[in-house]
Amino acid sequence: MSSMRRKELEHIDKVLAEEKIVVFSPYEDEIYSEIEKCQNCSLCLTFCPVFEATGEFYPGPRGIADELSRDVREFWRASSIVYMCTLCGRCQERCPVNVPIPEVVMLLRSKIFVQRPDLVPEGLKVLLENVSRYGYIFEPMNPEEREESLRGRLERIGLPLRGDPPLRSGLVAYFPGCQAETRLLEVKEAGKLVLEAFDVDYGIPEKWKCCGLPVRLIGDSAMADELQRSFLEEMERMNVTDVVVTCAGCASELKSATKRLGSGIRVRHLVELLFEEVGVETISRKARVSDKVKVTLHEPCHLSRHIGRYTIDYAEEILRALPNVDYVGMRGADECCGAGGLLKFHNPFVSATIRNKKLEKISRSGAEVVVAPCPLCSVNISEGAARKRVSVGVDDLAVFLARRIYSE
Ligand code: SF4
Ligand code: SF4
Repeated sequence: MSSMRRKELEHIDKVLAEEKIVVFSPYEDEIYSEIEKCQNCSLCLTFCPVFEATGEFYPGPRGIADELSRDVREFWRASSIVYMCTLCGRCQERCPVNVPIPEVVMLLRSKIFVQRPDLVPEGLKVLLENVSRYGYIFEPMNPEEREESLRGRLERIGLPLRGDPPLRSGLVAYFPGCQAETRLLEVKEAGKLVLEAFDVDYGIPEKWKCCGLPVRLIGDSAMADELQRSFLEEMERMNVTDVVVTCAGCASELKSATKRLGSGIRVRHLVELLFEEVGVETISRKARVSDKVKVTLHEPCHLSRHIGRYTIDYAEEILRALPNVDYVGMRGADECCGAGGLLKFHNPFVSATIRNKKLEKISRSGAEVVVAPCPLCSVNISEGAARKRVSVGVDDLAVFLARRIYSE
C-alpha cells in the first residue's frame, strides 16, 4: 500500500472515530439484516426464561430487535438486555423466522466490549481478570488446599484418586475445563476414571487454559480467539486428533473454534466419545449393579441447542442402559438452569429465580437424582437444591458414571 493511501485511510479512521460513526463488517451487516426479519410476534417471549423470571422488566429477544431497528449505530442501547440473556437459544428455536438472537447477543457484547467498555458489567470484568492472571475463570486454590479438598470429595463419593497422565504425541487429549479444575474437582477425576475404564489412551495437556467461552461471553473476542488458536496449535504440534471434554460449554466453544480456525482436530463431549467409540452395551456391562435409583436428565443448552439434540439422545441412551437405573423423563428438561450466558455472575437474583423454576420441574419428575452432563449446570443446580432444601441428588454425568463403574 502506498504511503499516500495509508495516510488517507488513517484520516478516514480518525474522522469516523471523532464523529462516533460505527462501520460494520459484512458479517455484522448480515446479522443486522437477519434481525430486521423480526415480525414483533412476541412468540419468543413465551419461551424466554429471563422474561418468565422478570416479566416486563426484561423486554427479551423482541426488545433487542426493537432497539436495533431504531438505529443500529446505537447498538449499545441494548446493553441492559444483552447481559441478561442466558444464551439458551430457545427463542431462536421457536421463532417463526429464525432470528438468530444468541448470535446477535454475542456480536453486541463484543462490540460493546470494544467501543463502550464502560457498559460491561463489573461482575464480569472480574472473571476476565482471573483468566488473564491465572488462565482460569476462577481463582484456583493453592495446591495443598486443592489436594485436601479433592481427597475429601473423592472419599465421600467412593472414587479412587489418580495422577494426571501427561499428554503424549498422538493420544486423546482430555480438556478438564475451569470449573472441574478449580471448583467441582471430582468431575475432572471422574472423567479420567471413565476414560481409563474404557481403555481410552489419553493425557491431559500441560498448562492448558480456559477454553475461551466465558471470555467471549464477556465480549473479549480477541482474547478468546487467542486462547483457542494457541490451544489448537499446541494440539496439532502434539499430533493430537481428538479432544474430549466433560463440560458442555467447553465442548461447544472448542467445536466452534475448530470450524472458525479451520483446524482438523475433532472435539467431542464425553457422551459423544462414549456413545460413538465405546458403545452403550459395553458401558452397561462395565457398570456395577448398584442400588436401584430413579434418575432424570438435565439437558444443558450448550449440548442440546448449541451442539445438537443428538448429544442428549446419547446421554439418555447411556443412562437407560445402566443396570438398576430407572430413567424418568422431565417436563422442561431442556430449559436453562439459570447459569447460562454468565447471568449467574451478572445478576444472581434473576439467575436464581430461573434455577428455582428448574428445581420445581426436577422435583415434579419424581427422580431421586438429576444428572447433568456439564459441571457448570451441576454446580448451579446443586447449590439451588441445597438453598431451597429440595431433596434430590445432583450429579455430573461423568461422576454418576464413574460411581456406577468404580464404587463398591
Ligand atoms: S419470535 Fe422471532 S419474529 Fe417473533 S418477536 Fe421474537 S424474534 Fe421477532
Ligand atoms: S437466548 Fe434464551 S435467554 Fe436469551 S433472549 Fe433467547 S430465550 Fe431469552
